[in-house]
Amino acid sequence: MTRRISHWIDGKSWGGVADRTGEVFDPATGEVRGYVDFAGDGQVDEAVAAAARAFPGWRDTSLAARSRVLFRFRELLTARRDELAEIITGEHGKVLSDAAGEVARAIENVEYACGAPQMLKGGFSENASTGVDVFSIAQPLGVVGVISPFNFPAMVPLWFVPNAIACGNTVVLKPSEKDPSASLFIAELLAEAGLPDGVVNVLHGDKVAVDGLLAHPVVKAISFVGSTPIARYVYETGTSHGKRVQALGGAKNHMVVLPDADLDLAADAAVSAGFGSAGERCMAVSVVVAVDPVGDELVSKIASRMGSLTVGDGRSPDSEMGPLVTAAHRDRVASYVEAGVSAGALLVVDGRSAPVPGGGFWLGPTLFDRVRTDMSIYTDEIFGPVLAVVRAGSYDDALAVVNANPYGNGTAIFTNDGRAARRFQNEVEVGMVGLNVPIPVPVGYYSFGGWKDSLFGDSHAYGPEGFHFFTRTKVVTSRWPDPAQGGVNLGFPRNS
Ligand code: NAD
Repeated sequence: MTRRISHWIDGKSWGGVADRTGEVFDPATGEVRGYVDFAGDGQVDEAVAAAARAFPGWRDTSLAARSRVLFRFRELLTARRDELAEIITGEHGKVLSDAAGEVARAIENVEYACGAPQMLKGGFSENASTGVDVFSIAQPLGVVGVISPFNFPAMVPLWFVPNAIACGNTVVLKPSEKDPSASLFIAELLAEAGLPDGVVNVLHGDKVAVDGLLAHPVVKAISFVGSTPIARYVYETGTSHGKRVQALGGAKNHMVVLPDADLDLAADAAVSAGFGSAGERCMAVSVVVAVDPVGDELVSKIASRMGSLTVGDGRSPDSEMGPLVTAAHRDRVASYVEAGVSAGALLVVDGRSAPVPGGGFWLGPTLFDRVRTDMSIYTDEIFGPVLAVVRAGSYDDALAVVNANPYGNGTAIFTNDGRAARRFQNEVEVGMVGLNVPIPVPVGYYSFGGWKDSLFGDSHAYGPEGFHFFTRTKVVTSRWPDPAQGGVNLGFPRNS
């Protein structure tokens, strides 16, 4: 049984016939679950036009009414969180408990957006000059585009959509074509919550849809999350078309383990953060930097934990790690295992020979030790269940490894030495840092973003920086003078 997955434009499912479609798989069985319509230029125009028509009314909708829609959406999402988790697992493959975690973190962002009336308060300076008041207003941008990756099909759209609409913008969301159904579920719940037609539209597709949004003169801003080459392209193309762009890219996240760390806790964390969601997380730990002399003991503790991981269909409560998202991605990840062996890294656990179910896009957890920083398993973002251990002689050597890496999304240090941890938080050139926390995804009232090649643009996602990104500020200087105070004065106004 396959189904058709189509665009959501102006509050309803698109009724046209697509020129191109893409297959959507069940990664656990390898079967095609559905076909998703791919937008051409005509559908990009339709979606943007719907969002543009909805903008004047939504912009003028009171803060109270906007936040009430978000509160209702939050209630609906909470009541139906299990359904959304099942949709995620069915198309992405991650295990249900992990999908439920994704939905929980998504709801955090909706809750933050419910506070829009507080966030959108401007400043007011009475008597900035005698009888002159100055105040600021945060206004929406207009139609904004959100382009999201496959690995968090609900959470990443909800990093942006609630804050964008809370600020009074209207949205065209272009989710990943690999797992498009979660975004439609979200759009339908928003409609049920009372969001007017056209305020949030979902446009499916590939590069054609993305390019259409990047070049469209009516689209004022783009929030993008995906791999670094595409993030760079989106940033450069969008800004060259005069748009405000935040483009979050890929990662290679290092977990430094100092000699004084509790090695059992560190090994638990490395396995959880390395193989959760089959390593398909932008905040996954993909490199462990073991500072001498703990390397041998740490590698052996990690390997023994890997041996007891259950790989299987994400719908089964026993499974701890699901399949990869597509056959092509599984093959690409497996090719890195071969590349690591050829480059001379020590293959401690070979996921290619792990017991996995038949049919789907499977690869077991893999561990390499004695990885050098010139090997492709170190330099490239693999985005799969492959963990690399790099040995370092000292804290300074470990820090140098992390800081020399072109990515700067997340990092963690495991230690019981507060002074070393504080030094690390100060010296490391990475946007999100965990002190004995392996996946330091900031809560919804902070903002999420990496440094260096992990983010293009100057705004991080969600939280206060999200509100900043989705508004532009107007500063008003006002006075109500007595007519007797008139008179021509060609001098530059001074404050008195
Ligand atoms: P991707 O870059 O392949 O795709 C992301 C989006 O861009 C999708 O909507 C896709 O349709 C579109 N796209 C793909 N190729 C394109 C092209 N040539 N031109 C224009 N648009 C194109 O990423 P993915 O494989 O879906 O997701 C995994 C990547 O996302 C990883 O690199 C991961 O690290 C990254 N990611 C980063 C963060 C973060 O916050 N920094 C969060 C999640 C995922």
